[in-house]
Formats: sequence, C-alpha cells, structure tokens
Amino acid sequence: MSNILVTGGAGYIGSHVVKALGEEGYRVLTYDNLSTGNRWAVLHGDLVEGDLADRDKLAATVRNFSPDAVLHFAAGIEVAESVANPLKYYENNTVNALGLLQTLRREGVGRFIFSSTAAVYGIPERIPVDETAPLLPINPYGASKMMTERILADLAVADPEFRYVALRYFNVAGADPEGRIGQAYKNPTHLITRALKTALGQYEKLQVFGTDYETPDGTCIRDYIHVVDLASAHVAALDYLLEGGGSEVFNCGYGHGYSVQEVIDMVRRVTGRDFPVEQAPRRAGDPPALTAESMRIRNGLGWTPRYDHLEYIIETAWNWELKLHSGQVGRQA
Ligand code: UDP
Repeated sequence: MSNILVTGGAGYIGSHVVKALGEEGYRVLTYDNLSTGNRWAVLHGDLVEGDLADRDKLAATVRNFSPDAVLHFAAGIEVAESVANPLKYYENNTVNALGLLQTLRREGVGRFIFSSTAAVYGIPERIPVDETAPLLPINPYGASKMMTERILADLAVADPEFRYVALRYFNVAGADPEGRIGQAYKNPTHLITRALKTALGQYEKLQVFGTDYETPDGTCIRDYIHVVDLASAHVAALDYLLEGGGSEVFNCGYGHGYSVQEVIDMVRRVTGRDFPVEQAPRRAGDPPALTAESMRIRNGLGWTPRYDHLEYIIETAWNWELKLHSGQVGRQA
C-alpha cells in the first residue's frame, strides 16, 4: 500500500481527503502548521505540525516518510484577503509550493496532486468553462494558483519522472455525512457557512455582495460541489497517477450553478429559520458567474459525483454547524 503525504491535511478539504484515503487503505501522513486546520480533523495517520516555509522540517518529513505521492492543500483560500494582502498569497500559494516541489524533486518524489481553483479562469467568456479556456485570473488568489499550475506544467515537461494532476475546485461546501469533520474556520467567509451561522444567530445578518450582476436575479452564480465528492475526485486522481497516468488538469464541479439568492432560499428551507439579509456592494475580485464543464474528469478519471443536490450539501453543512455550535467538536482554528 502506498504512502501519501498530505500538506494541509488538517484543513477543511484536506481532512475530508485524509479520511477518504484512510478508508481506501492508504498510509497517510499530514503535514500542517495548524494555522487554519485542527488536530482533531485528522482522522487517519499521524500529523506533523510544520510549516512549508520550514524547509528543513519539510525535507526531514519527506525523507522519513518516503511518500509515493504528495497531495498539496496547504494554502490561503480567500479572494478578498488576497486582494488586500497579495504578498501573503504569492508567498503561501506560489513560493511555498515551489519550495515543496524543490524538496520533492531532491528527495525523488515524482507524483503530485495540486489544489487549484476555478479562480484561475477569471471571468470566462463561456460557462460552463472548460479546462482549455485561457487563464486570466482577476484576483491575486487566482493568480497565485495559476502561477503554481504553470510551474507544474513546466516541470512536467522538463522532468519525465514528474507527473501531476491539478484539480480546479469550484465552490466546495457541505460536510462529512457522518458528522465527524467539516469546515471550522475562526472567520469563515464562504457563503453557505456565513448563511448557516447567521441562521444560528452567530452573525446579526447576511450580506449579499452585489445584486446588480448580469445574472437572472442579479446575484452571483457559483457551482457548489460537495466536499465528499471532491474528496473522491482526489482518490481517483491519485489512483490514476499511481497507475501511470500522465499529467492532467481537471475541473471539479457539477456543471451547473446556483445564485447567491437561491442559496439563501435553500438555507432558509433546510434550517427552517429566517434571518436578516442585507444588500451590499459588490465584493472585489468576484466574477459574476462561474460553473464547471466537468466532462473531462468524468471521462478521464471515471469520476461520478454522488451528492449533486444543493439541499443535501446544505443539510450536511447545517448538521455540522449545529454540532460546532453545541460544542460537541474541538476548538475551532
Ligand atoms: N457571498 C455573499 N455574502 C457572503 C459571502 C459570499 O454574497 O457573506 C457571495 C460572494 O460575493 C460570491 C458567492 O457568494 O458571489 C460565493 O462566495 P464564496 O466566498 O462562498 O466563494 P468564492 O466564489 O469567492 O470562492
């Protein structure tokens, strides 16, 4: 059975992938600085508490564990924060990824799965957007991930021993249906989480960032994908690479989207609670509509999503929020 190193395995998406890998029988080691992740979220294998910038610790971890592949989640993920603090994003998402790749090449590790993002597309000309569309990010977050994708592509050309899969995530939401893990940030910014916490009374109101977009109801449209389906995409990508598959880039989304208003309506329905919603100005760096053409991953990896239902996504996220709210899970990062 293969050894898999997971950077950021204590975070929201990383922890769901660690769980899925453990269930598949992989030996997993998480490397995470716990800046936004949580020790309790790592359900399989050991956790090394370390920063990617600590090259000595990273190299020693890689040498000791001798991974067959690395899944790289550790990164910043907030568009607005990246606009306000671009250098943080280029450092975390580009420079630290480069450092990780240098370490892996030195240690002879040649299989890599990268957490990329739909934000690399910017405002696509056509939606659903496919993987061949030009990469024209409109915020530093998307640019920082695009640069790392470029580094990976160049490395794969130069070094035939190196193969990677970049997964471009659309809007990841929902939680483990068994209720053991879920999103647990101190200051969550994502729509579904903010809406659910507002329904719980943790926030006074939910702001809708922009109601004058060129969309049917004026609010932004996104392709929300259940985190468990995203985790299964990683397992499929890993199996593909380990079985000799070549470097590839795949969108991870369902191929259709919901507006901010539709999400709010569904949150009200699922929770059975009403809460104040306020119209607010557009948020910097937000494209009006972003949905995934998903045929490439369905055909290329045989990926079949199981939870393409907004109601179910919100239900699992709601059950998780209730658990967090009642203090049944550990400290929030
Ligand atoms: N959004 C909103 N209010 C919030 C959080 C998000 O109106 O409190 C909007 C945001 O402007 C975007 C959509 O919801 O149009 C999804 O944003 P999110 O931050 O969840 O994900 P992103 O698309 O930025 O990755």
